[in-house]
Amino acid sequence: MKITRIETFLVPPRWLMCRVETDEGVVGWGEPVVEGRAETVRAAVGELSDLLLGQDPRPVEHHWQRLTKAAFYRGGPVLSSAVAGLDQALWDIAGKSLGVPVHRLLGGPVRDKVRVYGWVGGDDPAELADAVAARVESGLTAVKMNAAGVVGRSATVREIDAIVGRLAGVREVLGPDRDVAVDFHGRFNAATARRVLPLLEPLRPMFAEEPVLPEYGHLLADVVRSSPVPIATGERLFGRSEFLPALQAGIAVAQPDLSHAGGISEVRRIASLAETYDALLAPHCPLGPLALAASLQVAFATPNFLIQEQSMGIHYNRDAELLDYVLDADAFAFPDGHIHRTEAPGLGVEVDEDAVRRADRTGHRWRPPVWSHDDGSFAEW
Ligand SMILES: [Mg+2]
Repeated sequence: MKITRIETFLVPPRWLMCRVETDEGVVGWGEPVVEGRAETVRAAVGELSDLLLGQDPRPVEHHWQRLTKAAFYRGGPVLSSAVAGLDQALWDIAGKSLGVPVHRLLGGPVRDKVRVYGWVGGDDPAELADAVAARVESGLTAVKMNAAGVVGRSATVREIDAIVGRLAGVREVLGPDRDVAVDFHGRFNAATARRVLPLLEPLRPMFAEEPVLPEYGHLLADVVRSSPVPIATGERLFGRSEFLPALQAGIAVAQPDLSHAGGISEVRRIASLAETYDALLAPHCPLGPLALAASLQVAFATPNFLIQEQSMGIHYNRDAELLDYVLDADAFAFPDGHIHRTEAPGLGVEVDEDAVRRADRTGHRWRPPVWSHDDGSFAEW
């Protein structure tokens, strides 16, 4: 079997997909993307294609080694995401060529269903309560919310009270049998995170995410020590070497993104590394169907898995939804807050290729919002 063609598709709302074709008719799909840098990653996939065209796709690890190391300069979001999408496509081909799902190739399933969570937005507590109620109605048993919108690096008393108040409102709707996670997005500084986290503990969030920005990783251990709330991080870390110090700092939950951190191959290793620190895996995935499908395959085969993010209904998905690009929406149904395991081969999802090709003709220029403080200075999003 040889790889004969590699194509990329820029599809709304903000994703990039890749399609790897072989001379035996087996086709693999992946999602190599950094949100807001999709065209840059597309160029990287084009460059990396030189290493794959004409090759047998099935020695996935061998390709991963070459794709990540052969050009001398390594790592970072763009290259690691380009490799991630290609790695997903190679695993998809490996599974399809044997007629088995990828989780069978990862050692077989350790669970029958995967718990998923969805985002809730809204600054106004009443609006937020309605959003949570709608998520519960959809079947979800867990949600994630931002701690705050635009907030000072050193949050004010009013801002801190608002954070606690919003979480209290969400907890009230959820009751004790459902969960909420809080994403800090690194919006305020480490000292403020240390002040805020103990105030959240009475409301028992499942975890608090990115209390410090990745560049302040050296402060993470202090934050973990001061926090009764389990700390999660990892959507902006791109490989096991970057997860190691975070795990040593004591994070409870590792959140690699299957489309950023080197794909199935590397996230599988990050999960294993996390296990040695008794940390759980909750992959980041506000992305499309292939990123989610790849995440699920890892979740089915990974013992220290906690919960999976998924983007259906997320506020970014204004122009298109995850299900617009698949023929089998059932693959992503979560009737009891869980997506159930199937034996569908490869990544376990059937791509609507016509829809993908059509969407690529429109493309997108999605960019993250750029926020400012009242004084005009830059604010973290
Ligand atoms: Mg996050």
